[in-house]
Amino acid sequence: MSHPRKLVFRMVMILLMVVSIPLSASQAQGGITVEDATVAVNFGQSITFTAKIKTSTPIQQASLLFRGVHETVTRVETVQVAEDGSVSFTYDASLNVFPPFSQIVFWFQATLADGQTYTSAPITFLYGDNRFPWREMTQGNLTVHWYAGDDSFGVSALNAAGAGMLAMSEVIPISLTEPVNIYIYSNVTDLQNTLMLGGEEWVGGHANPELGVVLVAVAPGLGQSVEMESEIPHELAHVMLYRSLGNKYDNQPAWLLEGIAAMVERYPNPEYARALEIASQNNSLLAFEDLCTSFPADAGSASLAYAQSQSFVTYIRKTYGTSGLGRLTTAYGDGILDDAFCELGATNALGTPLGQLDSRWRENVLGQNTAGVAARNLLPFILLMLLVLVVPIWGAIDLLLQRRKRANQSK
Ligand SMILES: [Zn+2]
Repeated sequence: MSHPRKLVFRMVMILLMVVSIPLSASQAQGGITVEDATVAVNFGQSITFTAKIKTSTPIQQASLLFRGVHETVTRVETVQVAEDGSVSFTYDASLNVFPPFSQIVFWFQATLADGQTYTSAPITFLYGDNRFPWREMTQGNLTVHWYAGDDSFGVSALNAAGAGMLAMSEVIPISLTEPVNIYIYSNVTDLQNTLMLGGEEWVGGHANPELGVVLVAVAPGLGQSVEMESEIPHELAHVMLYRSLGNKYDNQPAWLLEGIAAMVERYPNPEYARALEIASQNNSLLAFEDLCTSFPADAGSASLAYAQSQSFVTYIRKTYGTSGLGRLTTAYGDGILDDAFCELGATNALGTPLGQLDSRWRENVLGQNTAGVAARNLLPFILLMLLVLVVPIWGAIDLLLQRRKRANQSK
């Protein structure tokens, strides 16, 4: 909980200084010492690094090196060193973006008069979205951050997160120690803008499972609880699944990940129910094998994809138990995801191919007569088969008739 005075102070800091992060006073490693290192973040715009490099002999050349802690590519920038060792470099964060709330690590390298290159100790800082006067509240490994709404808003958010963790703990083993940070924007425009500045495409709520960061948009007011208790558990589920599956997370079909995340949303989404009903009546349901590598881009189909995935995964859990879901994530984690493997993963895990699971779900949950549906789907093939069979028979009859005619003529 933030003391009011502390909050005002923090807001002033943000307004005046664009958040200057003072970092550890002195870093020495093999010949160079870095002092007074600071990073000024202007989120989505620029990152200014300043420091003093102290060496015993003159510097020939110096560079600043930095990268996101989960990135493999390091950015290298040559810096000019003033006589007193001061360096300053401003990075254009609007062109080469970092994801919001990612950790960035930086260090300096200097080639000295002896021709040797020395490296300073790395320093890590948070590239936060500092355009808002964030408040925060922590319980266990969960921290919620918000800027609109009072203390009770923060408490409700923490409760929603706790309920989400509990729901997920019934699906997979989860970590209660690794921190998760949940940032609650007060409207979708702010959230969308943040994600855009961070180079991400907007998809409603957002989780960066690698960073343990969740971003959602919830306006304080009457609808806040329902929104929180749907959005926060959904995005938390992605983080927990990633932590449980590691690099097998990326091999999972989209319908499975999104289905599990939607399943732990506290309130049944009325839009999902409507989308399912309409699509089932119009026979316009999406095939799950088309929801493996990605979800459709257009909003209407995407909404149906979420609705189907939630219902489908809930059906699988009811039929095969939580252990069945576990066998699915394990099976998919062991392969490279493509359309064929999407079908096979289900066979390996549950003994039933994906297409057949799909039919059973339509039959059991949506009350469809899948035998009739199957026959309808097979109709073009039946016609084709008939054609394939009829044409040669026709040809054969024709041949026979001609032969008989010829035989009669030769008589
Ligand atoms: Zn999701």
